[in-house]
Amino acid sequence: MTIKFLDQDPIVISRRKLVQGLAAGSIVAVAGCARNQAIGRDQLLLVSEGQIAQMAASSWTQLKRQTKISKDRTLNRRLNTVGNRIVQTAGLQNQPWEFTVFDDDQANAFVLPGGKVGFYKGIFKRMKNDHHLATVMGHEVGHVTGKHAAERYSQQVAAGVVTTAAAVALEAGDVRGGAQIAGILGLGVQFGILLPYSRRHELEADRLGVNYMHRAGYDARQAVAFWDNMSSQRTGSSPPEFMSTHPSDATRKNAIRQELQRLGIA
Ligand SMILES: [Zn+2]
Repeated sequence: MTIKFLDQDPIVISRRKLVQGLAAGSIVAVAGCARNQAIGRDQLLLVSEGQIAQMAASSWTQLKRQTKISKDRTLNRRLNTVGNRIVQTAGLQNQPWEFTVFDDDQANAFVLPGGKVGFYKGIFKRMKNDHHLATVMGHEVGHVTGKHAAERYSQQVAAGVVTTAAAVALEAGDVRGGAQIAGILGLGVQFGILLPYSRRHELEADRLGVNYMHRAGYDARQAVAFWDNMSSQRTGSSPPEFMSTHPSDATRKNAIRQELQRLGIA
């Protein structure tokens, strides 16, 4: 069986291996290559969004149980307001969403399959306004419309990488500090397979995010200012996933500027 990825050489795997991989994930193949209109390309999808959401559900529950949740009313209100506006613009308002502020100083945010969005309190310090909040929210929602989690999982299954549901759920999120969370969840060894999203996925999420924030009535030009702000304030050795080494800040900002031009608001 040959599976052709758009940006990779064909990966030849045996049917037996594919079945083993599927069994390891306790899932059933539901589809092959499918067109994703949001990103304008075909994707290998061996799981449905519902299945991958189910896999992520327990990770989300554990995260909420073991990481302090912020009760800050203003932050929660802002996150929910911006979140709902972006989700509506993305046409995803008919599925359940949860926007949670975690009481932690790291400047990071992530989304798990099933519409579970987590923002760490620290990232609000890097945001001067709700346009900046919408930049990050748009990016996270872009990962969902891009079906990036299901695609990553499918590629790994196809490549014969055995993954557990918990690990899949984590790698599907924008969690750069995965080690910490993997520790919380007692994943240990499995952390080795946690990887940041691919460069392609990051750029797709950025592009979709800029579109969503623009259509939701936010000033999309401020996306560039936000990334500038994040770059200038970056300290320490662990930048957030969504501005990690790939794509580089420059690549990302150029891509965002191109999208702004396409939208006629550059
Ligand atoms: Zn991302």
